[in-house]
Amino acid sequence: MIFKSQFVKVSIVGTLVASSLLNLAQPTFASGSEQNTASNDEIAAYGNTENPKNIIFMVGDGMGPSFNTAFRYFKDNPDTQEMEKTAFDDYLVGTQRTNPHDSKDNVTDSAAGATAFSSGHKTYNGAIGVDENKKTVETVLERAKKKGKSTGLVTTSEVTDATPAAYASHIDSRDKKDEIAKQFFENRIDDQHTVDVILGGGAKYFGSANDNIDKKFKQEGYDVVSNKDELEQADGDKVLGLFADKNMPLQIDAPDDDPRLADMQSAALDRLSQNDKGFFLMVEGASIDKAAHANDVTGVMSEMGGFEKAFDDAIAYAKEHEDTLVVATADHSTGGLTIAKGKDYIWNASAIHNMKHSGQWMTEQIAEGKDIEETIQAGYNKYLPTQTVKAIRKEAKKLSKIKEDDERYDAQYQKLQDAIQKTINDESNTGWTTYGHTGEDVNTYAFGLQSEKFYGNIDNTDNAKNIFDIYNQE
Ligand SMILES: [Zn+2]
Repeated sequence: MIFKSQFVKVSIVGTLVASSLLNLAQPTFASGSEQNTASNDEIAAYGNTENPKNIIFMVGDGMGPSFNTAFRYFKDNPDTQEMEKTAFDDYLVGTQRTNPHDSKDNVTDSAAGATAFSSGHKTYNGAIGVDENKKTVETVLERAKKKGKSTGLVTTSEVTDATPAAYASHIDSRDKKDEIAKQFFENRIDDQHTVDVILGGGAKYFGSANDNIDKKFKQEGYDVVSNKDELEQADGDKVLGLFADKNMPLQIDAPDDDPRLADMQSAALDRLSQNDKGFFLMVEGASIDKAAHANDVTGVMSEMGGFEKAFDDAIAYAKEHEDTLVVATADHSTGGLTIAKGKDYIWNASAIHNMKHSGQWMTEQIAEGKDIEETIQAGYNKYLPTQTVKAIRKEAKKLSKIKEDDERYDAQYQKLQDAIQKTINDESNTGWTTYGHTGEDVNTYAFGLQSEKFYGNIDNTDNAKNIFDIYNQE
Protein backbone atom coordinates (compact mmCIF):
# COMPACT_ATOMS: atom_id res chain seq x y z
CA MET A 1 0.00 0.00 0.00
CA ILE A 2 2.87 2.33 0.77
CA PHE A 3 4.15 1.74 -2.72
CA LYS A 4 0.76 2.50 -4.17
CA SER A 5 0.19 5.78 -2.37
CA GLN A 6 3.70 6.91 -3.28
CA PHE A 7 3.05 6.13 -6.88
CA VAL A 8 -0.20 8.08 -6.96
CA LYS A 9 1.48 11.13 -5.45
CA VAL A 10 4.46 10.98 -7.75
CA SER A 11 2.42 10.31 -10.83
CA ILE A 12 0.22 13.34 -10.21
CA VAL A 13 3.32 15.50 -9.89
CA GLY A 14 4.70 13.80 -12.97
CA THR A 15 1.58 14.58 -14.94
CA LEU A 16 1.56 18.23 -13.92
CA VAL A 17 5.21 18.62 -14.79
CA ALA A 18 4.69 16.73 -18.00
CA SER A 19 1.85 18.88 -19.20
CA SER A 20 3.59 22.14 -18.31
CA LEU A 21 6.78 21.01 -20.02
CA LEU A 22 4.92 19.96 -23.10
CA ASN A 23 3.20 23.33 -23.22
CA LEU A 24 6.63 24.91 -23.15
CA ALA A 25 8.12 22.45 -25.56
CA GLN A 26 5.48 22.64 -28.25
CA PRO A 27 6.32 26.09 -29.67
CA THR A 28 9.92 24.91 -29.85
CA PHE A 29 9.01 22.36 -32.50
CA ALA A 30 7.78 25.18 -34.72
CA SER A 31 10.22 27.99 -33.94
CA GLY A 32 13.41 26.02 -33.48
CA SER A 33 14.32 28.28 -30.56
CA GLU A 34 16.65 26.73 -28.00
CA GLN A 35 15.48 28.40 -24.82
CA ASN A 36 12.33 26.41 -24.18
CA THR A 37 13.85 23.00 -24.76
CA ALA A 38 13.89 20.99 -21.54
CA SER A 39 16.64 18.39 -21.51
CA ASN A 40 15.86 14.82 -20.52
CA ASP A 41 17.95 15.34 -17.37
CA GLU A 42 15.86 18.31 -16.26
CA ILE A 43 12.69 16.35 -16.80
CA ALA A 44 14.01 13.30 -14.97
CA ALA A 45 14.93 15.53 -12.04
CA TYR A 46 11.29 16.56 -11.67
CA GLY A 47 9.74 13.24 -12.55
CA ASN A 48 9.56 9.82 -11.00
CA THR A 49 12.95 8.30 -10.32
CA GLU A 50 11.61 4.85 -9.55
CA ASN A 51 12.43 2.24 -12.20
CA PRO A 52 9.86 0.09 -13.97
CA LYS A 53 10.15 -3.67 -13.52
CA ASN A 54 8.34 -4.34 -16.80
CA ILE A 55 8.85 -2.67 -20.17
CA ILE A 56 6.50 -2.98 -23.14
CA PHE A 57 8.16 -1.41 -26.18
CA MET A 58 5.81 -1.06 -29.13
CA VAL A 59 6.79 -0.38 -32.74
CA GLY A 60 4.24 0.73 -35.32
CA ASP A 61 6.39 -0.17 -38.30
CA GLY A 62 6.12 2.61 -40.88
CA MET A 63 3.74 4.58 -38.64
CA GLY A 64 4.79 8.12 -39.56
CA PRO A 65 2.90 11.07 -38.04
CA SER A 66 0.45 11.27 -40.96
CA PHE A 67 -0.61 7.70 -40.16
CA ASN A 68 -1.64 8.69 -36.63
CA THR A 69 -3.54 11.71 -37.97
CA ALA A 70 -5.22 9.76 -40.77
CA PHE A 71 -6.28 7.14 -38.25
CA ARG A 72 -7.87 9.89 -36.09
CA TYR A 73 -9.92 11.00 -39.13
CA PHE A 74 -10.75 7.35 -39.82
CA LYS A 75 -12.04 6.78 -36.27
CA ASP A 76 -13.90 10.09 -36.06
CA ASN A 77 -17.59 9.96 -35.27
CA PRO A 78 -19.18 11.97 -38.11
CA ASP A 79 -22.20 12.80 -35.91
CA THR A 80 -20.18 15.08 -33.63
CA GLN A 81 -18.45 18.30 -34.61
CA GLU A 82 -15.19 17.68 -32.76
CA MET A 83 -12.74 15.04 -33.87
CA GLU A 84 -12.42 12.38 -31.19
CA LYS A 85 -8.99 11.34 -29.97
CA THR A 86 -7.42 7.98 -30.70
CA ALA A 87 -6.02 5.81 -27.91
CA PHE A 88 -2.57 7.22 -28.75
CA ASP A 89 -3.31 10.93 -28.45
CA ASP A 90 -3.27 11.36 -24.67
CA TYR A 91 0.15 9.74 -24.43
CA LEU A 92 2.09 11.77 -27.01
CA VAL A 93 5.35 12.85 -25.35
CA GLY A 94 7.48 13.93 -28.32
CA THR A 95 9.08 12.95 -31.58
CA GLN A 96 12.16 11.04 -32.66
CA ARG A 97 14.75 11.16 -35.37
CA THR A 98 15.20 8.05 -37.48
CA ASN A 99 18.20 8.53 -39.81
CA PRO A 100 20.63 5.58 -40.12
CA HIS A 101 24.44 5.54 -40.45
CA ASP A 102 24.75 4.17 -43.94
CA SER A 103 27.35 4.94 -46.59
CA LYS A 104 24.65 5.44 -49.28
CA ASP A 105 21.28 6.01 -47.62
CA ASN A 106 20.14 8.65 -45.15
CA VAL A 107 16.59 7.30 -44.81
CA THR A 108 16.34 4.23 -42.61
CA ASP A 109 15.03 0.74 -43.23
CA SER A 110 13.47 -1.36 -40.48
CA ALA A 111 16.69 -3.25 -39.74
CA ALA A 112 18.82 -0.18 -38.96
CA GLY A 113 15.81 1.33 -37.17
CA ALA A 114 15.27 -1.76 -35.02
CA THR A 115 18.98 -2.07 -34.24
CA ALA A 116 18.91 1.54 -33.01
CA PHE A 117 15.86 0.67 -30.85
CA SER A 118 17.33 -2.57 -29.54
CA SER A 119 20.99 -1.64 -29.00
CA GLY A 120 21.38 2.15 -29.09
CA HIS A 121 23.70 1.96 -32.10
CA LYS A 122 23.17 3.71 -35.42
CA THR A 123 24.01 1.28 -38.19
CA TYR A 124 23.61 0.62 -41.92
CA ASN A 125 20.38 -0.39 -43.62
CA GLY A 126 19.93 -4.16 -43.50
CA ALA A 127 21.97 -4.65 -40.30
CA ILE A 128 20.46 -6.91 -37.65
CA GLY A 129 21.89 -6.39 -34.15
CA VAL A 130 25.32 -5.42 -35.51
CA ASP A 131 27.02 -2.02 -35.74
CA GLU A 132 28.51 -0.24 -38.76
CA ASN A 133 31.50 -2.63 -38.63
CA LYS A 134 29.21 -5.69 -38.50
CA LYS A 135 30.19 -6.24 -34.90
CA THR A 136 27.59 -7.75 -32.54
CA VAL A 137 26.02 -5.23 -30.16
CA GLU A 138 24.16 -6.07 -26.97
CA THR A 139 20.37 -5.58 -27.05
CA VAL A 140 18.02 -4.47 -24.28
CA LEU A 141 16.20 -7.79 -24.54
CA GLU A 142 19.46 -9.67 -23.93
CA ARG A 143 20.23 -7.40 -20.97
CA ALA A 144 16.75 -8.06 -19.57
CA LYS A 145 17.43 -11.79 -19.79
CA LYS A 146 20.78 -11.34 -18.06
CA LYS A 147 18.92 -9.65 -15.24
CA GLY A 148 16.68 -12.68 -14.83
CA LYS A 149 13.66 -11.11 -16.49
CA SER A 150 11.37 -12.84 -18.96
CA THR A 151 11.42 -11.73 -22.59
CA GLY A 152 9.05 -11.70 -25.54
CA LEU A 153 8.76 -10.73 -29.20
CA VAL A 154 5.34 -10.30 -30.80
CA THR A 155 4.72 -9.21 -34.40
CA THR A 156 2.24 -9.48 -37.27
CA SER A 157 5.11 -10.11 -39.73
CA GLU A 158 7.44 -13.09 -39.88
CA VAL A 159 9.11 -13.32 -36.46
CA THR A 160 12.40 -13.41 -38.38
CA ASP A 161 11.59 -10.03 -39.95
CA ALA A 162 13.93 -7.10 -39.22
CA THR A 163 12.28 -5.58 -36.15
CA PRO A 164 11.97 -8.68 -33.93
CA ALA A 165 15.21 -10.11 -35.38
CA ALA A 166 17.25 -7.10 -34.21
CA TYR A 167 16.40 -7.87 -30.57
CA ALA A 168 17.57 -11.48 -30.45
CA SER A 169 19.93 -12.16 -33.35
CA HIS A 170 23.09 -10.65 -34.82
CA ILE A 171 23.72 -10.87 -38.53
CA ASP A 172 25.03 -8.69 -41.34
CA SER A 173 21.87 -8.93 -43.49
CA ARG A 174 18.14 -8.98 -42.74
CA ASP A 175 17.63 -11.31 -45.71
CA LYS A 176 19.28 -14.27 -43.91
CA LYS A 177 16.05 -15.39 -42.29
CA ASP A 178 16.99 -19.08 -41.94
CA GLU A 179 20.03 -17.99 -39.98
CA ILE A 180 17.95 -15.58 -37.86
CA ALA A 181 15.56 -18.42 -36.94
CA LYS A 182 18.55 -20.62 -36.05
CA GLN A 183 19.94 -17.90 -33.82
CA PHE A 184 16.58 -17.56 -32.06
CA PHE A 185 17.06 -21.16 -30.99
CA GLU A 186 20.80 -21.27 -30.49
CA ASN A 187 21.65 -17.91 -28.87
CA ARG A 188 21.81 -18.28 -25.08
CA ILE A 189 22.15 -15.92 -22.15
CA ASP A 190 23.52 -17.73 -19.08
CA ASP A 191 22.64 -21.10 -20.69
CA GLN A 192 19.05 -20.02 -21.25
CA HIS A 193 17.19 -19.31 -24.49
CA THR A 194 17.14 -15.58 -25.14
CA VAL A 195 13.43 -15.22 -25.90
CA ASP A 196 10.68 -16.92 -23.85
CA VAL A 197 7.68 -15.89 -25.96
CA ILE A 198 7.89 -15.65 -29.76
CA LEU A 199 4.61 -14.96 -31.57
CA GLY A 200 3.88 -13.99 -35.18
CA GLY A 201 4.26 -15.36 -38.72
CA GLY A 202 7.16 -17.00 -40.53
CA ALA A 203 6.52 -20.72 -39.93
CA LYS A 204 8.47 -21.53 -43.11
CA TYR A 205 11.74 -20.62 -41.35
CA PHE A 206 11.12 -23.03 -38.46
CA GLY A 207 9.99 -26.19 -40.25
CA SER A 208 11.57 -29.03 -42.20
CA ALA A 209 13.15 -26.65 -44.73
CA ASN A 210 15.26 -25.18 -41.95
CA ASP A 211 16.35 -28.01 -39.66
CA ASN A 212 12.98 -28.42 -37.83
CA ILE A 213 13.72 -25.61 -35.43
CA ASP A 214 10.13 -25.74 -34.17
CA LYS A 215 10.64 -29.34 -33.01
CA LYS A 216 13.85 -28.35 -31.25
CA PHE A 217 11.99 -25.63 -29.37
CA LYS A 218 9.36 -28.20 -28.41
CA GLN A 219 12.00 -30.58 -27.09
CA GLU A 220 13.29 -27.79 -24.89
CA GLY A 221 9.92 -27.23 -23.26
CA TYR A 222 8.30 -24.58 -25.44
CA ASP A 223 4.65 -24.87 -26.37
CA VAL A 224 4.60 -24.76 -30.18
CA VAL A 225 1.25 -23.50 -31.50
CA SER A 226 -0.20 -22.44 -34.84
CA ASN A 227 -3.67 -21.00 -34.20
CA LYS A 228 -5.64 -18.97 -31.65
CA ASP A 229 -7.23 -21.99 -29.92
CA GLU A 230 -3.89 -23.72 -29.42
CA LEU A 231 -2.42 -20.49 -28.09
CA GLU A 232 -5.28 -20.13 -25.61
CA GLN A 233 -5.01 -23.74 -24.47
CA ALA A 234 -1.24 -23.84 -24.06
CA ASP A 235 -0.28 -23.20 -20.47
CA GLY A 236 3.52 -23.30 -20.31
CA ASP A 237 5.54 -20.17 -19.64
CA LYS A 238 7.47 -20.44 -22.92
CA VAL A 239 5.80 -20.47 -26.31
CA LEU A 240 6.66 -20.36 -30.00
CA GLY A 241 3.50 -19.40 -31.92
CA LEU A 242 3.72 -19.26 -35.71
CA PHE A 243 0.36 -18.42 -37.21
CA ALA A 244 1.25 -18.07 -40.90
CA ASP A 245 3.87 -19.40 -43.26
CA LYS A 246 5.04 -15.84 -44.06
CA ASN A 247 3.50 -12.57 -42.81
CA MET A 248 0.17 -12.87 -41.01
CA PRO A 249 -2.84 -11.70 -43.06
CA LEU A 250 -4.01 -8.12 -42.53
CA GLN A 251 -6.61 -7.87 -39.79
CA ILE A 252 -9.43 -6.90 -42.20
CA ASP A 253 -8.78 -10.07 -44.23
CA ALA A 254 -7.81 -12.53 -41.50
CA PRO A 255 -9.83 -15.66 -40.67
CA ASP A 256 -11.49 -15.73 -37.24
CA ASP A 257 -9.15 -18.36 -35.83
CA ASP A 258 -6.14 -16.10 -36.42
CA PRO A 259 -5.05 -14.29 -33.27
CA ARG A 260 -4.99 -10.50 -33.59
CA LEU A 261 -1.96 -8.49 -32.46
CA ALA A 262 -3.74 -7.68 -29.18
CA ASP A 263 -4.50 -11.39 -28.61
CA MET A 264 -0.84 -12.27 -29.07
CA GLN A 265 0.21 -9.43 -26.77
CA SER A 266 -2.23 -10.63 -24.13
CA ALA A 267 -0.93 -14.21 -24.40
CA ALA A 268 2.60 -12.86 -24.03
CA LEU A 269 1.71 -10.75 -20.98
CA ASP A 270 -0.01 -13.73 -19.30
CA ARG A 271 3.25 -15.65 -19.46
CA LEU A 272 5.83 -12.92 -18.94
CA SER A 273 4.05 -11.44 -15.91
CA GLN A 274 4.62 -14.70 -14.00
CA ASN A 275 8.24 -13.66 -13.42
CA ASP A 276 8.73 -11.69 -10.17
CA LYS A 277 11.76 -9.98 -11.69
CA GLY A 278 9.67 -8.53 -14.51
CA PHE A 279 9.92 -8.64 -18.27
CA PHE A 280 10.85 -6.95 -21.53
CA LEU A 281 8.31 -7.31 -24.34
CA MET A 282 8.57 -5.89 -27.86
CA VAL A 283 5.26 -5.70 -29.76
CA GLU A 284 5.27 -4.76 -33.44
CA GLY A 285 2.41 -3.66 -35.67
CA ALA A 286 4.48 -4.73 -38.66
CA SER A 287 1.93 -4.68 -41.41
CA ILE A 288 1.22 -0.94 -41.20
CA ASP A 289 4.49 -0.72 -43.14
CA LYS A 290 3.76 -3.65 -45.45
CA ALA A 291 0.41 -2.17 -46.49
CA ALA A 292 1.93 1.32 -46.90
CA HIS A 293 4.70 -0.03 -49.17
CA ALA A 294 1.93 -1.18 -51.50
CA ASN A 295 0.03 2.15 -51.07
CA ASP A 296 -2.92 0.18 -49.69
CA VAL A 297 -4.86 2.67 -47.57
CA THR A 298 -7.47 0.08 -46.54
CA GLY A 299 -4.72 -2.22 -45.30
CA VAL A 300 -3.03 0.65 -43.45
CA MET A 301 -6.20 1.59 -41.55
CA SER A 302 -6.84 -2.08 -40.74
CA GLU A 303 -3.37 -2.44 -39.20
CA MET A 304 -3.51 0.93 -37.41
CA GLY A 305 -6.67 -0.40 -35.75
CA GLY A 306 -4.88 -3.57 -34.66
CA PHE A 307 -1.94 -1.59 -33.29
CA GLU A 308 -4.19 0.89 -31.49
CA LYS A 309 -6.03 -1.96 -29.74
CA ALA A 310 -2.72 -3.47 -28.60
CA PHE A 311 -1.52 -0.04 -27.40
CA ASP A 312 -4.75 0.58 -25.51
CA ASP A 313 -4.46 -2.84 -23.84
CA ALA A 314 -0.81 -2.19 -22.95
CA ILE A 315 -1.77 1.11 -21.30
CA ALA A 316 -4.54 -0.67 -19.37
CA TYR A 317 -1.99 -3.27 -18.26
CA ALA A 318 0.39 -0.53 -17.10
CA LYS A 319 -2.39 1.21 -15.17
CA GLU A 320 -3.14 -2.05 -13.40
CA HIS A 321 0.54 -2.94 -12.92
CA GLU A 322 2.13 0.31 -11.82
CA ASP A 323 5.66 -1.03 -12.17
CA THR A 324 5.33 -1.02 -15.98
CA LEU A 325 6.60 1.37 -18.66
CA VAL A 326 4.94 1.48 -22.08
CA VAL A 327 6.64 3.22 -25.02
CA ALA A 328 5.20 3.24 -28.54
CA THR A 329 6.83 4.75 -31.58
CA ALA A 330 7.68 4.07 -35.23
CA ASP A 331 10.92 3.19 -36.96
CA HIS A 332 10.17 5.48 -39.96
CA SER A 333 7.29 6.52 -42.17
CA THR A 334 6.32 4.61 -45.32
CA GLY A 335 4.75 5.49 -48.65
CA GLY A 336 4.48 9.25 -48.08
CA LEU A 337 0.85 8.89 -47.00
CA THR A 338 -0.94 12.20 -47.58
CA ILE A 339 -4.25 13.20 -46.01
CA ALA A 340 -5.98 14.77 -49.05
CA LYS A 341 -4.32 14.98 -52.44
CA GLY A 342 -4.97 17.25 -55.39
CA LYS A 343 -6.94 20.44 -54.92
CA ASP A 344 -9.79 19.38 -52.64
CA TYR A 345 -9.51 19.97 -48.89
CA ILE A 346 -11.18 16.65 -48.12
CA TRP A 347 -9.95 13.30 -46.88
CA ASN A 348 -12.89 10.96 -47.10
CA ALA A 349 -12.42 8.17 -44.56
CA SER A 350 -15.98 6.92 -45.04
CA ALA A 351 -14.97 5.44 -48.41
CA ILE A 352 -12.47 3.26 -46.52
CA HIS A 353 -15.10 2.27 -43.96
CA ASN A 354 -17.10 0.71 -46.78
CA MET A 355 -14.26 -1.60 -47.78
CA LYS A 356 -14.55 -5.31 -46.91
CA HIS A 357 -10.99 -6.29 -47.83
CA SER A 358 -7.59 -4.70 -48.36
CA GLY A 359 -6.02 -3.99 -51.71
CA GLN A 360 -3.48 -6.67 -50.82
CA TRP A 361 -6.21 -9.31 -50.46
CA MET A 362 -7.86 -8.43 -53.79
CA THR A 363 -4.49 -8.46 -55.55
CA GLU A 364 -3.56 -11.86 -54.10
CA GLN A 365 -6.89 -13.34 -55.16
CA ILE A 366 -6.65 -12.00 -58.70
CA ALA A 367 -2.99 -12.98 -59.06
CA GLU A 368 -4.02 -16.51 -58.08
CA GLY A 369 -6.52 -16.49 -60.96
CA LYS A 370 -9.79 -15.88 -59.06
CA ASP A 371 -12.62 -14.14 -60.90
CA ILE A 372 -11.85 -10.44 -61.22
CA GLU A 373 -15.41 -8.99 -60.99
CA GLU A 374 -16.31 -11.18 -58.01
CA THR A 375 -13.09 -10.35 -56.18
CA ILE A 376 -13.45 -6.61 -56.72
CA GLN A 377 -17.09 -6.73 -55.68
CA ALA A 378 -16.18 -8.68 -52.53
CA GLY A 379 -13.39 -6.25 -51.64
CA TYR A 380 -15.16 -2.99 -52.44
CA ASN A 381 -18.58 -4.17 -51.35
CA LYS A 382 -19.97 -2.68 -54.58
CA TYR A 383 -19.56 -2.90 -58.35
CA LEU A 384 -16.93 -0.71 -59.98
CA PRO A 385 -17.42 0.88 -63.44
CA THR A 386 -16.66 -1.32 -66.46
CA GLN A 387 -13.73 0.90 -67.48
CA THR A 388 -12.07 0.39 -64.07
CA VAL A 389 -12.50 -3.37 -64.20
CA LYS A 390 -11.11 -3.33 -67.73
CA ALA A 391 -7.97 -1.54 -66.52
CA ILE A 392 -7.54 -4.13 -63.74
CA ARG A 393 -8.06 -6.96 -66.21
CA LYS A 394 -5.34 -5.55 -68.46
CA GLU A 395 -2.76 -5.53 -65.62
CA ALA A 396 -3.84 -9.00 -64.43
CA LYS A 397 -3.35 -10.37 -67.93
CA LYS A 398 0.16 -8.93 -68.10
CA LEU A 399 1.00 -10.43 -64.71
CA SER A 400 -0.27 -13.86 -65.73
CA LYS A 401 2.35 -13.93 -68.50
CA ILE A 402 5.29 -13.35 -66.12
CA LYS A 403 6.74 -16.15 -64.00
CA GLU A 404 6.98 -15.50 -60.26
CA ASP A 405 10.77 -15.78 -60.22
CA ASP A 406 11.11 -13.33 -63.13
CA GLU A 407 12.62 -10.02 -62.01
CA ARG A 408 9.72 -8.11 -63.65
CA TYR A 409 7.11 -9.94 -61.55
CA ASP A 410 7.11 -7.68 -58.47
CA ALA A 411 6.81 -4.47 -60.50
CA GLN A 412 3.90 -5.85 -62.51
CA TYR A 413 2.27 -7.18 -59.32
CA GLN A 414 2.38 -3.63 -57.92
CA LYS A 415 0.89 -2.28 -61.17
CA LEU A 416 -2.01 -4.67 -60.74
CA GLN A 417 -2.39 -3.63 -57.09
CA ASP A 418 -2.30 0.06 -58.12
CA ALA A 419 -5.08 -0.53 -60.66
CA ILE A 420 -7.15 -2.30 -58.00
CA GLN A 421 -6.55 0.45 -55.41
CA LYS A 422 -6.98 3.45 -57.73
CA THR A 423 -10.67 3.71 -56.89
CA ILE A 424 -10.25 3.71 -53.10
CA ASN A 425 -7.25 6.05 -53.19
CA ASP A 426 -9.26 8.46 -55.40
CA GLU A 427 -12.54 8.16 -53.47
CA SER A 428 -10.80 8.70 -50.11
CA ASN A 429 -8.51 11.34 -51.67
CA THR A 430 -5.39 9.63 -50.29
CA GLY A 431 -2.01 10.60 -51.73
CA TRP A 432 1.17 8.52 -51.90
CA THR A 433 4.62 9.59 -53.05
CA THR A 434 6.70 6.39 -52.92
CA TYR A 435 6.66 2.62 -52.49
CA GLY A 436 9.52 3.02 -50.01
CA HIS A 437 10.26 4.76 -46.71
CA THR A 438 10.38 8.48 -45.92
CA GLY A 439 12.63 10.28 -43.45
CA GLU A 440 10.42 12.52 -41.29
CA ASP A 441 10.56 12.38 -37.49
CA VAL A 442 8.00 10.05 -35.93
CA ASN A 443 5.82 10.36 -32.82
CA THR A 444 6.65 8.93 -29.40
CA TYR A 445 3.92 7.83 -27.00
CA ALA A 446 4.81 6.81 -23.45
CA PHE A 447 3.23 6.05 -20.09
CA GLY A 448 4.42 4.74 -16.74
CA LEU A 449 7.55 4.85 -14.62
CA GLN A 450 10.43 6.69 -16.32
CA SER A 451 8.31 7.69 -19.30
CA GLU A 452 9.79 11.19 -18.82
CA LYS A 453 13.02 9.89 -20.32
CA PHE A 454 11.30 9.76 -23.71
CA TYR A 455 10.05 13.38 -23.76
CA GLY A 456 10.96 15.94 -26.41
CA ASN A 457 12.75 15.34 -29.70
CA ILE A 458 14.94 12.30 -29.06
CA ASP A 459 17.03 10.07 -31.32
CA ASN A 460 15.88 6.55 -32.18
CA THR A 461 18.99 5.24 -30.35
CA ASP A 462 17.75 6.93 -27.14
CA ASN A 463 15.08 4.24 -26.77
CA ALA A 464 17.75 1.63 -26.05
CA LYS A 465 19.96 4.06 -24.14
CA ASN A 466 17.07 4.95 -21.82
CA ILE A 467 16.21 1.29 -21.24
CA PHE A 468 19.86 0.37 -20.56
CA ASP A 469 19.92 3.32 -18.15
CA ILE A 470 16.91 1.93 -16.32
CA TYR A 471 18.51 -1.54 -16.16
CA ASN A 472 21.84 -0.09 -15.01
CA GLN A 473 20.14 1.64 -12.10
CA GLU A 474 18.10 -1.37 -11.04
ZN1 LIG B 1 9.30 -0.99 -44.77
